[in-house]
Amino acid sequence: MSNTDYDVVIIGGGPAGMTAGLYASRANLKTLLLEKMIMGGQMMTTTLVENWPGYPGGIEGPELMMRFQEHSLEFGLENDYGTVEKIIDNGDTKTLIVDDKEMTCKAVIIATGVIPRKLGVEGEAALVGKGVSYCATCDGAFFRDVPIAVIGGGDTAAEEALYLTRFASKVTLVHRRDKLRATKILQDRIMANEKIEVAWDSVVDSLISDNSGLTGMMLRNMKTGETSQVELQGMFVAVGVTPTTGFIADLLELNEDGYIKSGEDTLTAIPGILAAGDCRTTILKQVSTAVGDGAVAAIMAEKYIDELEFQAKK
Ligand code: NAP
Repeated sequence: MSNTDYDVVIIGGGPAGMTAGLYASRANLKTLLLEKMIMGGQMMTTTLVENWPGYPGGIEGPELMMRFQEHSLEFGLENDYGTVEKIIDNGDTKTLIVDDKEMTCKAVIIATGVIPRKLGVEGEAALVGKGVSYCATCDGAFFRDVPIAVIGGGDTAAEEALYLTRFASKVTLVHRRDKLRATKILQDRIMANEKIEVAWDSVVDSLISDNSGLTGMMLRNMKTGETSQVELQGMFVAVGVTPTTGFIADLLELNEDGYIKSGEDTLTAIPGILAAGDCRTTILKQVSTAVGDGAVAAIMAEKYIDELEFQAKK
């Protein structure tokens, strides 16, 4: 069978990718984990993780990911940084174009996760870094004793709103419906927090700014049509996520939201290409489900490579 640079290349250094790396390298497969920017994925911008078993009282996302990374390297996993531009399926081998260089492997595990979705309101892009942010843990401390807003009604918006009350004088949580999507425990904390006011049934119509940056927003009530102006210096957008799958859109089948179509076995339609974690069609997006996926993907990659080698020896 053809020689390749690696047995397995994993794309993405979040919980799914690092777990796949741990399992694949422990199975004695020559494994490389490629990350575009920062190892740890979304967890690096997460505050307290309260639902990762084994840590009563919770653990900070970045600390958990540092432990994941240290552990993932214990059995010989290689880590490198680079952006995968393209995967070419040659049948028994795969070629990856990484920042204009090529590498080959037998199996690829795509664990590229998701990135925050933009709100899509005029002026948003120009105000990033001048009041608009997508990461409360990164930028929250810049907004001490000033009013801010969080947009969205999911777990991320609720967690960010709660976290930001540490700094801001007031947090307006803007949600387009009359019921939060976030889990009940977070909803209860939101309602009990005196610093948080929820603008129900509301959307951001426009942003107001001056030379210093964001100074306010115009809200529109979806039910009454009424508009109101809210003064603020920061707006944290938490309106969901988009999968990082553009680079394989011409190779693999994606659903209408861009997630890789794959079952719980992490297999895709192409033998030797697997998808793990938030970037694939999953019913739950949690560290625990990403970890499960990473383990399954590595074991499925091992089985696939065993079968390739068996066939080559025949
Ligand atoms: P999400 O669950 O998809 O929630 C997105 C929120 O943004 C929804 O409330 C949605 O409103 C709102 N929204 C979407 N587009 C909008 C727009 N254009 N304008 C205004 N509002 C808009 O996304 P997420 O909160 O980022 O969470 C992503 C996944 O990670 C979820 O599965 C979540 O459970 C998980 N997560 C888990 C935890 C945890 O377990 N601790 C923490 C964070 C995230 P509607 O409700 O009306 O659709």
